[in-house]
Amino acid sequence: MSKKSKKNYCSFCGRSTEDLPDVIASPNDDAFICPECVEICHAMTDKTNLKDTGTKKKKEIISNLKVPIPAEIKKKLDKYVIAQDGVKKTLSVAVHNHYKRLIHSAGKKKKNDVEIEKSNVLLLGKTGTGKTLVAKTLAKILDVPFAISDATTLTEAGYVGEDVENIILRLVRAADYNIEKAQIGIIYIDEIDKIGRRTDNVSITRDVSGEGVQQALLKIIEGTIANIPPKGGRKHPEQEYLRVDTSNILFICGGAFVGIDQMIQRRIGTHVLGFHTDTKTDEDILPETLSENMDNLTDFIEPEDLLHFGLIPELIGRLPIAISMRDLKKEDLISILTEPKNALVKQFKQLFVMQGVKLHYTKGALEALAEKSIKRKTGARGLRSIMEKIMMDVMYDLPSKKDIKICTVDKNAVIGKAQPKFE
Ligand code: ADP
Repeated sequence: MSKKSKKNYCSFCGRSTEDLPDVIASPNDDAFICPECVEICHAMTDKTNLKDTGTKKKKEIISNLKVPIPAEIKKKLDKYVIAQDGVKKTLSVAVHNHYKRLIHSAGKKKKNDVEIEKSNVLLLGKTGTGKTLVAKTLAKILDVPFAISDATTLTEAGYVGEDVENIILRLVRAADYNIEKAQIGIIYIDEIDKIGRRTDNVSITRDVSGEGVQQALLKIIEGTIANIPPKGGRKHPEQEYLRVDTSNILFICGGAFVGIDQMIQRRIGTHVLGFHTDTKTDEDILPETLSENMDNLTDFIEPEDLLHFGLIPELIGRLPIAISMRDLKKEDLISILTEPKNALVKQFKQLFVMQGVKLHYTKGALEALAEKSIKRKTGARGLRSIMEKIMMDVMYDLPSKKDIKICTVDKNAVIGKAQPKFE
């Protein structure tokens, strides 16, 4: 058998080069490279150049950001989110500062410039009060990518469930794989109150759903270079990763924190009844505010209340702005039905107009709709299904009826005592 001649093989991939044109040899003819390996090397050196263009692109994206003043953000939020004035105001300021900080840190730095840390947000509130809506609307106002994740689906790497990195992948997808854009996006993590550390965890290994997840979340929330598998799923060592810097992503975490109001009440109660009632602030604010409106309890939230839900102190520390949504009242639900840009009533009216029919809801109907939703305890979330159910028969019959000009839905139609009226 003849000995392999070096010349017949690419020194990089080892493939035979006999039939390949354009094989390049080193000056002393002892190394060769095939056209394919040349391509690969070219791609690799291009990637190194990417660093520079990446920074340029990042600066460009940040300088193109239009950050409205807080009052403008709030005004725009008002168009979509009903009530929740306190939350809208606080978030407007927080988001304004977050993006101002970003622009500032991308600009020229002076020696004595102070590093401003980002302030992620914790939103407390019952289901259907608008937590997701407010986060989503903020992203729309600022024209940045937005992604939603559910904390309860996350598990520590290596266990059945989702890796924390998938949260970032969703944002990257929302940014059409534009990493620079994703790096300034907003992520909403729902059900953060459900991943508490379990004190009754008897496992001698790890707490699969609790502390491990919080530690992993903590890392991406405080800012890290996350390695993201581009197609999602589990990470494995030979995979190529997308590298995403999470330090400028704004995280808004939401949770119902059921029972936190009683906890706060107990804590505040002990303060007032305790030995040192000279704690001026509590004494001053408490008596009238609390007796006037028990709704406000969550305004007195302290980190120790969150500890009771098993959140680790480091994570609480990374969510310095904690604000709570109000329970929606009957009037709020009626406004939700009628006022926002894409309010349900407006949507149904539009559907009927397409069939040449004017749809009308009486005041009593709107009130009954709101009352039904309150009974369900699902906030504004239940409004759509209640409405769909009522309108289903009408929408089925209407196209087969002739000469109908007006359809009126009144209270009796909502409570199921009568059909909507046709004229
Ligand atoms: P949460 O995240 O608090 O459970 P969502 O934001 O998902 O609630 O709300 C569910 C739906 O209810 C929204 O898509 C929206 O249509 C409606 N909704 C809830 N709260 C409000 C609100 N304050 N203003 C307007 N619509 C609301």
